[in-house]
Parts: sequence; C-alpha cells; structure tokens
Amino acid sequence: FETPDQGKARLLTHWEQLDYGVQFTSSRKFFTISPIILTGGIIPPVAQQLHKENIQRIVQEALYTSGISPSELSAIATTIKPGLALSLGVGLSFSLQLVDQLKKPFIPIHHMEAHALTIRLTNEVDFPFLVLLVSGGHCLLALVRGVSDFLLLGKSLDIAPGDMLDKVARRLSLIKHPECSTMSGGKAIEYLAKQGNRFHFDINPPMQHAKNCNFSFSGLQHVVDKIIMQKEKEEGIEKGQILSSAADIAAAVQHTTACHIAKRTHRAILFCKQRGLLSQSNAVLVVSGGVASNLYIRRALEIVTNATQCTLLCPPPRLCTDNGIMIAWNGIERLRAGLGILHNVEGIRYEPKYIV
Ligand code: ATP
Ligand code: FE
Repeated sequence: FETPDQGKARLLTHWEQLDYGVQFTSSRKFFTISPIILTGGIIPPVAQQLHKENIQRIVQEALYTSGISPSELSAIATTIKPGLALSLGVGLSFSLQLVDQLKKPFIPIHHMEAHALTIRLTNEVDFPFLVLLVSGGHCLLALVRGVSDFLLLGKSLDIAPGDMLDKVARRLSLIKHPECSTMSGGKAIEYLAKQGNRFHFDINPPMQHAKNCNFSFSGLQHVVDKIIMQKEKEEGIEKGQILSSAADIAAAVQHTTACHIAKRTHRAILFCKQRGLLSQSNAVLVVSGGVASNLYIRRALEIVTNATQCTLLCPPPRLCTDNGIMIAWNGIERLRAGLGILHNVEGIRYEPKYIV
C-alpha cells in the first residue's frame, strides 16, 4: 500500500506482533496504524488471507487458555452471516473440519443476534428487552423476545453511523492529526469533538418527521461534506489538510448523530410500551456495537431511558465490538434452549448461503 507519506506499507500477518495492524516505515518515522484508517476500509482478500493464516493458532490458543480439551467441547458455534463472505468462509470451513474430526454438533450463528444477546453473559437480563446495535456495518433496533425470537423495529435505510463517522473522519484527514492518527474514525471524531463547539454549525437531525424507527446517515454525511468544502474555501486550504474548524465540525456531527439515534430509540421505547411489548416499569434498553462506546451518544441515550423509566445497559467495550466470545455465548444460549443445533452438516460444506 502507498502510505500517506509515500512510505511502503507491509501487512503483518503475525497476530501477536500488531493485533492485525499495519506497520510501515518512512525515512522520517516508524509507527503502527490501524489498517482500516490506512486503506479506507477492509480489503476482503487481505482479510481472508489473514483469517487463513491465524485461525488454527487462535483456536488452539483459546483451547489451551481455557484448559478444555477438544473432546470436552459440547458443540462448535460459528458465525455464518452477515459479514464478508470471504472471511466467513474461512471460519465456516475450518469449523466444519473440526465438526467432522471431533464428531460434535454444529451451531450456525447470526452475527447480529450474537451482538444482541451478549448482555446476558455479563448481566442478568430477561426477555423481552430492546436492543440498539450501532456499528460500522449495522444500525438496527430490535425487540429481543427470546434466544431466536427477534422483532426488527427499525434499521438504517442507507449507511451505518460508524461508516458515516469513518467517512467524515477521512474527509477531515484526521489520519494526519497528531493526536488521533491511530484511532478509528468514530473514536477520532469523539476525541476531537471534546475540543470543539457543537453550536458553530447547525445541522438538522435526519428523518425528523418520519413516523417509524428507521435511521439514515448518508444525508448527514453529504451535509457535512458540503460544510467541509465551504470551510476549505474560506480558510483557503487544499483538500487533505486539516481545517482549523475540524473540532467544531466533529462536535456538530457527533451531536447530530447522537440526537438522531436517541430520537429513533425514544420512538421505539414508546411504541413497545404502548403496545405492551415491553414492561412499563422495568424495561431494559441494551446498546452495543463499536459506536456504542461513544460516551456522548451514551449520554443522549441515558436522557431517553431516564425519561421513559428504562434501564440502559451496555456490555463492556471489548464485548461491544466484534469478538469471538459473543459467538460462543450465543452457541451456549442455543444449546440451553435446544435451538438450531445441527447434527448433520452434509451439504452445507463451505457454503454459508446453504445454511439459512
Ligand atoms: P459490524 O459489527 O456491523 O460488522 P464493524 O466491523 O464496524 O461492524 P465494530 O467493531 O462493532 O464493528 O464497530 C466499529 C465502528 O465503530 C467503526 O465505524 C468505528 O469508527 C466506530 N467507533 C469506534 N469507536 C467509536 C467511538 N468512540 N465513537 C463513535 N464511533 C466509534
Ligand atoms: Fe459486529
């Protein structure tokens, strides 16, 4: 890859060295940086290759750390959708080989259901509860009625909030910002927003009059794009340089994102309570996904849950973002409920689409 300062980048394939990071050298400095910021997104064949190179060792390490022998496993649970087909294929073919070798049942897992149920690993939460999943790839509100019973109340009609924040961060060239160059786009926006004034730019939250619980973030992204273009003209700087008003723009986009997410969630809580789908007195809202680690957005959701007598729960940050523990936990939930356990995996070999 060409790096921003024209140094040569090399993808490290050894997990321990850099946690999937990219290391690159230039004549001036040597540093590490998230591959997502560097390349502008995940490159599917590269991700596939890294999965292939690491999966065996990761599974062995997990077994070694847990002190459980392969024969003691109850079942093998693996994500089958949604996600990057190339990466999912690596996980699926590897686990089907294990299923074959160890003669264990196989439990196909839906990635978003796993996100939604993670909270039951860390907290005592009974069904039903409301879940808001906000990440780089997804944005949805659902009522979780059981291990395998989800009522989708709303979703993004275009891009996810994390994707929008990543695009704004890239457009603001935050990778060149001395304080946030190694952060994900969303985290960089949160960091910079603390130094900015959200009142300097007035951006209307999207879908203010829509009578549903859907979301939209691409309009917001275009509005912010226009503001950045205008500011570049005013400040007389080239695209790719950092604006002096970058912190104010970050604060405004974070505020508008928080308002939009909070308002749609408020509608969903009121809808569920009015229809008797959630308890009036002890309803729970679970928020998860990478964007849920944003404290400003959490604060906005706290205001909503306080006003509607709901309890707001978030899994710890390491379980909010993508992780293997939540997949294993979903497997345990399904095992306990006797749901979706396959004893015959004939015909689903290497083809995720055949399972669902
Ligand atoms: P999915 O789980 O939908 O496949 P994903 O791979 O993007 O998506 P996550 O790790 O849950 O998974 O989320 C990453 C996203 O979260 C990125 O878009 C990132 O910018 C965003 N993000 C991370 N930290 C913050 C933060 N503090 N504030 C806002 N957004 C954040
Ligand atoms: Fe995820």
